[in-house]
Amino acid sequence: MVVTEAAGLYVHIPFCSAICPYCDFAVARGGEADRERFVEALVGEIVLLGSSGGEGGTGATRSFESARFDTVYFGGGTPSALSVEQLGAIRRRLVGTLAIDPEAEWTIEVNPEDASAESLGGWRELGFDRISLGLQALDNRALRFLGRRHDEAAARASVERAREAGFRSVSVDLIYSLPGFEGGWWLGTLDETAALGPDHISCYELTIHDGTPFGRRRDAGRLREAGEDERAANFVATHRRLAELGYEGYEVSNFARREGDRSRHNRKYWRHQPYLGLGPSSHSFAGRSRWWNVAPWRDWSAAVAGGDSPVAGREELADDQLLLEAVMMGLRQRSGIDCAALESRFGIDPAAGARGQIDAWEKAGWLRVRGRRLEPTLEGLARADRLAREWKLR
Ligand code: SF4
Repeated sequence: MVVTEAAGLYVHIPFCSAICPYCDFAVARGGEADRERFVEALVGEIVLLGSSGGEGGTGATRSFESARFDTVYFGGGTPSALSVEQLGAIRRRLVGTLAIDPEAEWTIEVNPEDASAESLGGWRELGFDRISLGLQALDNRALRFLGRRHDEAAARASVERAREAGFRSVSVDLIYSLPGFEGGWWLGTLDETAALGPDHISCYELTIHDGTPFGRRRDAGRLREAGEDERAANFVATHRRLAELGYEGYEVSNFARREGDRSRHNRKYWRHQPYLGLGPSSHSFAGRSRWWNVAPWRDWSAAVAGGDSPVAGREELADDQLLLEAVMMGLRQRSGIDCAALESRFGIDPAAGARGQIDAWEKAGWLRVRGRRLEPTLEGLARADRLAREWKLR
């Protein structure tokens, strides 16, 4: 499949100065020499993209040979763990190899401790116009619990400095449902965050993954994970409070002050639009194909250095799988599921097999039926994963 519609580009930078105790991403600490080697490998992966005879190289990515990209997202890990010069080398190679719109949205994820005025100015000069700051919390006790390297003052200052540096859109990430931080703590965090005036806020529930330090503490009975009811109550309270503060929850975890502040890049994931991932563990999608790179960065780097494809796996999705994914993503967005549009795309009415559930969920106040559009209510969004699991196509 050759991509003709505007595509997204994701670049994964795997390094972090320390690994947070709840993290299960493909990350590494890496010293300066590792980071240099990584940048060389990433440039190598981009060069492989540009070489049309990439059968042994990046055959899967040839779908994007003539694609036009209108969003670019540097995520991780911590992209701000690389120097401005290293990021500049990656950017130059991207711009020289791929057709990136001059008006493209360029997002960089940054940790507050890296957000000096100098670095912020450097990222702006490289063309990043949207910044996603990993605040996670706004008080020192919670930041210590999460094992973060910044303190409250750095979190607050990073938002202010990003604004001064001229980013078009400033987004912040927060984590909630922290054990031991109940009561009004979380709503207070939301109030204080909104007072800093970011354009966009992402709120993620703390998930405790097996094999992480938090997972081991939970298994040893030293960390209590929030229960389902508590999580649902926190979720609803989050959306209500942020709505009062002027942030519309347009997706399960994402809130924006204005339509134009919504993440254009993330929307591609939620709408089955094409995106190309570069770097270790990154995923790509085009048409009905999804493929992903090797996760450990040294293995990915060795593959690229040897001129081999770093792709670790690939799947071709059948219509039913694509349709179920579209339903699942619709249940996670306030705009909901457009059954007419999905039926014209797949030839199957996604509601046909789920009439009984849809009626029950409407009565329970979880779904609103507006003609052929099904919109989750706030209570429905809180149960999006469950609704998706129980959805039947036939
Ligand atoms: S900064 Fe983010 S990516 Fe890095 S270890 Fe912490 S949670 Fe993981």
